[in-house]
Amino acid sequence: MKSIDAQKLVEWRRTFHQFPEPGWEEFVTTGTLIPLLREMGLEVKAGPAIICRESILGRNVKQVEAAIATARQHGISQDLLDEMDGLTGCMAILDSGRPGPTFGFRFDIDCVYVQESCEASHLPHQQGFQSRRSGLMHACGHDGHTAIGLGVAAWLIANRDALRGKFKLIFQPAEEGVRGARPICDSGVLDDVDYFMALHLGCNLKKGQVLLDPQDFLCTTKLDIHFQGEPAHAGSDPEKGHNALAGACLAASQILAAPRHSAGMSRVNIGVLRAGEGRNVIPASAEMQIEVRGQSAAIAEYLVDYVDRCVQGAALIHQLSASTVKTGEAVDFRNDRQMIDVLQQVIDRHPELSSVSASTAGSEDASLMVRRVQEHGGKAIYFIVGADQPAGHHKAKFDIAEEALSIGLTLFSEGLQTILAAPDQH
Ligand SMILES: [Zn+2]
Repeated sequence: MKSIDAQKLVEWRRTFHQFPEPGWEEFVTTGTLIPLLREMGLEVKAGPAIICRESILGRNVKQVEAAIATARQHGISQDLLDEMDGLTGCMAILDSGRPGPTFGFRFDIDCVYVQESCEASHLPHQQGFQSRRSGLMHACGHDGHTAIGLGVAAWLIANRDALRGKFKLIFQPAEEGVRGARPICDSGVLDDVDYFMALHLGCNLKKGQVLLDPQDFLCTTKLDIHFQGEPAHAGSDPEKGHNALAGACLAASQILAAPRHSAGMSRVNIGVLRAGEGRNVIPASAEMQIEVRGQSAAIAEYLVDYVDRCVQGAALIHQLSASTVKTGEAVDFRNDRQMIDVLQQVIDRHPELSSVSASTAGSEDASLMVRRVQEHGGKAIYFIVGADQPAGHHKAKFDIAEEALSIGLTLFSEGLQTILAAPDQH
């Protein structure tokens, strides 16, 4: 089998690192990926062909329009933007032309709202490939995931004559806030997948360590809550106002007092609370961004119900109207034993790799894809590849050891070869 130059993966990662884009706004990233993948010789689908519009969560139309304008300035062609039709992400397909299973691989492409460190010790800054965008950074390693995806594409093309079956490479938008996976699942593109693999870099593991069966991935629901009241003069007639700030504060104090659940881990957080216009006005509107997490779907639902009662109760007391919008969701999942064994065989062939076990307590919407594939009779795995990161995820000094990129590629390419070589696969 022909291998891919590790330096190429590093170059791709550094290119994407310089232009981070948040979820549903990845028009430059997608507009860079599509021509690259086509030049390699893969078929590429984008926009409504892979994303079910009705299932989209947490997409801000104004921000999307601004991102399209930015992409135009950045030289992304109108033809590509038309093809995306306002939707980011793409799927590259390679059909070997020989009978065999269908593989699905997921690579997420979005960034987070973090200002990247400009300290001399921070390697992206030192080497001149730091984020060019203020307040935005690939601080979760998705630039690396995107590069690994391109590496897998290049590897498949280089070795196409030795392969069987069909390969679908999904470059997923909007993983942050767990928003992008549901509409891809609902488009049906995963429903013929026999073997599904997705990875994450980092998660505080050392380079060379691989976590094949992450435990305790939590179900999560993200909620945006809006309270609407009535403004009034704070001096002359405060009793005529309906105070949305007071309602939001009451709801907040009760939400944070949620009784925890005896059946497993539970989390609740109010990350944002904004209210009011001016010092002498009874605040007429307030908004909160909330997330709950639970070890099982039942625990997460218990917390969503509890939040809902706090919101309704606070609204009643302060005579407000309240609305709740779900902006993201992920579920718990179990990797298939067969897939764990396949990747363990790959690790066993490489003395520099070792498999570890650890608890993660994170959330990830690849979980929806894992479940979807399993529901349709396929096998799936989500695994973690250590990257010696100098700082935690979503922090200004986050970085990855770039050798982890070729480790990721090895796990995908040798994993699929192991599956193709097994006697029991169809
Ligand atoms: Zn991430």
